[in-house]
Order: sequence, then C-alpha cells, then structure tokens
Amino acid sequence: MQGVIMDNKGRMIVVSAPSGCGKGTILAEILKSHEYYYSVSATTRSPREGEVDGVNYHFISKEEFEKMIREDGMLEYAQYCGNYYGTPKKILYDKMEQGINVILEIEVQGAMKVKKLCPDAVFIFIIPPGINELERRLRKRGTESDEVIAKRVAEAAGEIKKAVNYDYILVNAALEDAVDDFKAIIRAEQMKIEYSKNKIDEVLENA
Ligand code: 5GP
Repeated sequence: MQGVIMDNKGRMIVVSAPSGCGKGTILAEILKSHEYYYSVSATTRSPREGEVDGVNYHFISKEEFEKMIREDGMLEYAQYCGNYYGTPKKILYDKMEQGINVILEIEVQGAMKVKKLCPDAVFIFIIPPGINELERRLRKRGTESDEVIAKRVAEAAGEIKKAVNYDYILVNAALEDAVDDFKAIIRAEQMKIEYSKNKIDEVLENA
C-alpha cells in the first residue's frame, strides 16, 4: 500500500479541524452522496448526547482500546484531551479495495502518522474564520463545560498552526461554500495525472 498509486482503488481522504469548526456539518453534507465511506473511529471518551455507538464512534473501554493496539487493529491512534481515539484498519482497506473513497476525520497527531503510512492520501484541514468564532460555536453547542471549552480552544490554536502540513486549507465561513470547496478538492484530485493515465490510453484507443 505504502506510496503506491492505485488506479480504480478508493482514495483515502484525511480531514482535520479543531472541534467546533463545523467539520461534522460539512462531512454530513458530503456523505449524503454515498460515494464515500466514513471511517468510524474508536474512542474511550463518553458519548455526547445524541451520539450513537457504531455510528459516530465505537465507544469502548481503555482496556478494549489497548487490546486493539496490541493486536495491530489500528491504522493510527492518538490521545486527545485525555482520551484515546483511533482508526480501525481492516475496514478501510476493504473499502478502498472495492474502489470506495474513505474519509478519516482525525486530529493532527493521527493525521501525521497516516501521512507517513499513506503519503498518497489527501489531507484537508478545516479552519474557522476566526478563533473567537470557534469559542462562540463551542458555547452554542452547549455540550461541554467552561473548563473543557477553554482546553479545546487552546488545543485548537496549537492545531491550526500545524495546518501547514496538509495539502488543502478549507475556511468554513459559510457551510454551502465549504461543501462546494470540499467537492472541488476531490474533483481536482481525481483528475491528477497519477490517477488519470488510463484516460489518455482510452482517448487514443478511440481515435
Ligand atoms: P471529539 O471528542 O470532538 O469527537 O473529537 C476530538 C478530536 O479527536 C477531533 O479532532 C477528532 O477529529 C479526533 N478524532 C476522532 N477520531 C479519531 C481517530 O480515530 N484518530 C485520531 N487520531 N483522532 C481522532
């Protein structure tokens, strides 16, 4: 898999954003198209209200998580705000083998591990129009305490600085534009020469 460009295989798309950037809303729109498989991560954090096990995350214990690490079941994993988060590996490779694009919604440390393992993945970083706006969105969500919000805003500022290591920066000022931008990135990626060489042969054969 490493470093190999595969025609007809699904692409891996890695999306990071500090929490509160509207990443979930953008991805929900993108996933309506059914062209993508959303990688359901495992985490040791508790479910937020409305989150469903197996849909938003696989909510598992620390012991179960550590067992998956030992058994090489994770593509990558990281600790974030005191909890483990990780990407179960097998299902991703199965989907890509079937030609389906997979989306990983992971934080920066994990994304950088994936970049080493799968350098041909597409790395997208979503940023808010401003850090104040981020705090406002987190407060509006109302699912976290003041202390957790402060921790997440501080973490976000640090994360945004690392966005330079990604392929694309997507500013989420207006949802509709952000969704269009996301689709434009994927469309352009699919037209890259590495994935389109077969089109040249097809055209010449049809002369
Ligand atoms: P939240 O608790 O807000 O759902 O997620 C916190 C952070 O963990 C987010 O930045 C999210 O993208 C990241 N995250 C979710 N799943 C994974 C994963 O499987 N691996 C890594 N490295 N980060 C993840």
